[in-house]
Amino acid sequence: MFDIQRHYTAMGHYSIQQGIESVHREMDLALDAAERPRGSVSLLAVSKTQPPEAIREAVRCGQYDFGENYLQEALHKQESLRDIEALIWHFIGPIQSNKTRQLAERFTWIHGIDRLKIAERLNDQRPPAMGRLNVCIQVNISGEATKSGVKPSAVATLAHQVHRLPHLRLRGLMAIPEVPHGVYEPRTAFRALRQLQEDLLPLALDTLSMGMSNDFESAILEGATIIRIGSRIFGARDRPV
Ligand SMILES: *Cc1c(COP(=O)(O)O)cnc(C)c1O
Repeated sequence: MFDIQRHYTAMGHYSIQQGIESVHREMDLALDAAERPRGSVSLLAVSKTQPPEAIREAVRCGQYDFGENYLQEALHKQESLRDIEALIWHFIGPIQSNKTRQLAERFTWIHGIDRLKIAERLNDQRPPAMGRLNVCIQVNISGEATKSGVKPSAVATLAHQVHRLPHLRLRGLMAIPEVPHGVYEPRTAFRALRQLQEDLLPLALDTLSMGMSNDFESAILEGATIIRIGSRIFGARDRPV
């Protein structure tokens, strides 16, 4: 049988358990520094490219929220892990409109809404018995041409439109700030995202999905409520994504 622990040890990587524990310790330190209550940020384990065994190991450490970027890969893992009922699946990748039905049927959260058409399709295709689909609007906060996400100036209009869709629950905003070649000041981008969310006060949003392995402490200092962590938990990915 595939031994996930031996696999990672062979790669020279600490265990998944150590990864999760050390991220939790740093989350608590950042929350203390920000004078925010412990537990006010949740950890989304980004399991893209990782085998189902790695997810099982994380579950044994008490981790139930997992983020995936590719639909087919996610569907395979959901299938092989369907004996674990408490898993909460988040889709964090770019969304193609021909994939929305499976996204609406198989996920609890979608982090990357960046146009109304996608939101409307998810709304129409969400099975009512599953309850509302939690969504975040992805914002292109550093203004780079290549990454997906709505322009900051267009967030308010889209947020109000999405908020009206009855089978979706707009929870907040998400961003993947650009990491420049020079000095990286992640707090600037995270602060800008929080400011955009504060401008949407009447929508009562409760989620800021921001911060990855390299910058989650800054994100927590600026108000993140969900951090999305891959390599700090599972080790470096062998294929780039
Ligand atoms: C891959 C990915 C992450 C996690 O990245 P790490 O640097 O491995 O923590 C977080 N969010 C999104 C959208 C991703 O694609």
